[in-house]
Amino acid sequence: MMVLRNARVVPELMEGYEGTHADIVIEDGLIQEIREPKTVSGGEILDMTDRTVIPGLIDAHLHLDLKGTNVFEENVQPDAYRAMTAMKLAQDNLKMGYTTIRDLGDRNNIIVDFARAVREGYVTSPDVLASGKIISPTELGNEFFGDMYLEADSPDEFRKAVRKQYQKGANWIKVMGTGAVMNPGAEPGQVILEEEELKAICDMARFVNLPVSVHCHGSEGIKMCIRNGVRTIEHSSIMDDECLRMYKSTARSFMIPTLSAPHAFLEMSEGMPKHYVDKAARIVRILDEGMREAYRQGIKMGWGTDAGVYEGSHGNGIYEFRLRVNECGMSPKDTIIQATKNNAEILYIDDVVGTIREGKKANLAIYNGNPDENIEILNDVALVIKDGKKVTI
Ligand SMILES: [Zn+2]
Repeated sequence: MMVLRNARVVPELMEGYEGTHADIVIEDGLIQEIREPKTVSGGEILDMTDRTVIPGLIDAHLHLDLKGTNVFEENVQPDAYRAMTAMKLAQDNLKMGYTTIRDLGDRNNIIVDFARAVREGYVTSPDVLASGKIISPTELGNEFFGDMYLEADSPDEFRKAVRKQYQKGANWIKVMGTGAVMNPGAEPGQVILEEEELKAICDMARFVNLPVSVHCHGSEGIKMCIRNGVRTIEHSSIMDDECLRMYKSTARSFMIPTLSAPHAFLEMSEGMPKHYVDKAARIVRILDEGMREAYRQGIKMGWGTDAGVYEGSHGNGIYEFRLRVNECGMSPKDTIIQATKNNAEILYIDDVVGTIREGKKANLAIYNGNPDENIEILNDVALVIKDGKKVTI
């Protein structure tokens, strides 16, 4: 038994407990009890005075198979090498408090297999949900990422592609719905999927019981996704008023903004491919304004960093927090709620993680200070607990 004694907690992230401080009892990988502060004795006592305990962070959009270095060099690395570097990058995220991550695109489905090794306890890592290869129509620049795309054109080919990813063991289906910033020649706002193709994808994914995630920068693509019940709409960069209205009135589709990618491409433009920088420059202000407005309207949003797109992005989750707080006017507490409770609900894992509740997994992040008041505190990690054990990597 381990006891986090006299921990400061965030009431919005607690279930079944009211109060600002608590003793949290952990055993067998689970949160067993939440009691009044300084009331539990016995077991291994960890004094949490002046520390804040929050549910482990969840990143709903990253790529463990990308280091953010030269794409062409990365493309030709063998799978075993990439699996090993993925493990290191997963641990970089874990050390900063991310205890669950969703990987939305790798080469050759290696992260699907990596996720299995994590589930079976062979690897110290955040829990991993993985889409494996990204299903995409034949599109400009797909070859830039080597084996990352599984191409399909026509409803039948998309049905087959969904089944292929299901067969590989994917937890999510990831599809390209509009052009990508990182594909040379592609236009971010442009819809690249026909609606009947998207409908076929969603129908087949429902049939094999997998949720769908679609890469979508532009308004028309976003609307098509909401109409067809896509669960997560990645990036959601360019939104008109109708988009915002549709998000506001649906309870089945959610945006996973990733402000980090375009901001990083501009901030660290030296050495970046020119097409990354050019396209990021075109969308970044529109993206920030859209997010500010979505937040103002109270639209529920998730959390993603797109880590893997620039060097050093894994383990630099603080960057996305800074952007949402400093550029989009979100409160530190709300961003933490987005990265925990909201993401757990959106990813259908809120029965086990996302809040601190008796019976949930003991996946917890502990910081020296109050990150819900000052987001910079997220850099000051005191301890991460995963499956009830202290992370010591
Ligand atoms: Zn991505």
